[in-house]
Amino acid sequence: MLMSPVEFYRNLPKKECPECGQHMEEQAESYMMECERCLAKKEE
Ligand SMILES: [Zn+2]
Repeated sequence: MLMSPVEFYRNLPKKECPECGQHMEEQAESYMMECERCLAKKEE
């Protein structure tokens, strides 16, 4: 059974930071895997 694109995106799991497991807001930059807090930590 085919799902409409809207249904498909609604069923996608929420983006989660692999470092701390925190749920993130959808980012336009898809290359960002970690949340801003963990990214900031890595840059130090
Ligand atoms: Zn994180």
